[in-house]
Amino acid sequence: MSAVVTVRGLNVAYGTLEVVKGVDLDVAQGEKVVIMGPSGSGKSTFLRSLIWLVRPKSGKIVIDGIEVAQQTLMDVRKRVGFVFQHYNLFPHLKVIDNIVLPLVKVHGLLRGEAVQRAREALQLVGLADKERAYPLQLSGGQQQRAAIARAIAIRPKVLMLDEPTSALDPELVEEVLRVLEDIARRGTTMLIVTHEIDFALDVADRVVFFEGGKIVEEGPPDILYNPKTDRFRQFLRRLH
Ligand code: ADP
Ligand code: MG
Repeated sequence: MSAVVTVRGLNVAYGTLEVVKGVDLDVAQGEKVVIMGPSGSGKSTFLRSLIWLVRPKSGKIVIDGIEVAQQTLMDVRKRVGFVFQHYNLFPHLKVIDNIVLPLVKVHGLLRGEAVQRAREALQLVGLADKERAYPLQLSGGQQQRAAIARAIAIRPKVLMLDEPTSALDPELVEEVLRVLEDIARRGTTMLIVTHEIDFALDVADRVVFFEGGKIVEEGPPDILYNPKTDRFRQFLRRLH
């Protein structure tokens, strides 16, 4: 299997605070990797640094065969769908325009094509009837599904999601996880920070446990039942 994401010796710091410390990771075509770890362990920084939303101090990142560098950044970002904890929709744009705008402005699609793709994506996340709504007229779960639609409409080589359900009221989490499961089943390569154990068990090919800016443990999802390290075991115990 060819790797869609390759990370070697990645170091990221905020000033003198070292947050990601020598991380190596490969994500194969179609693979679903779930990242877990305590708050402050560097998960968000790691994910963001892969597309230089935070610029790494050192290390090598290759996405879809392109080494991430200043000259390739636009090209790389076009290949990555990113979903944040907070939906990051433009409040002054209708749901459909939130999706169409980047397709036209960044990806160079004609408006007609973009609208068609946006409608397909909205259909997939169950929001076909909300295309004319403004984000703030939607529930949190619907807003996050719209953000997911925006990310998949670009047909990304890899979809990265940073705690996509952790800002949601508990009763809205399920609808978002169900949409993500659908997307996973379609073969999309995914890198997801989440603490949803059932989701990880159902969807992940591999679970990675982050602590102190390092990968402390990784393996197939059944490591969630049978963690090898005390630190992962303690972390999982605290989740229940
Ligand atoms: P996680 O997502 O695992 O909770 P983060 O990557 O958000 O971890 O944070 C890792 C560490 O980096 C924390 O100590 C956090 O306070 C710090 N940090 C995160 N973002 C910034 C920032 N923009 N500037 C300075 N420090 C930051
Ligand atoms: Mg985080």
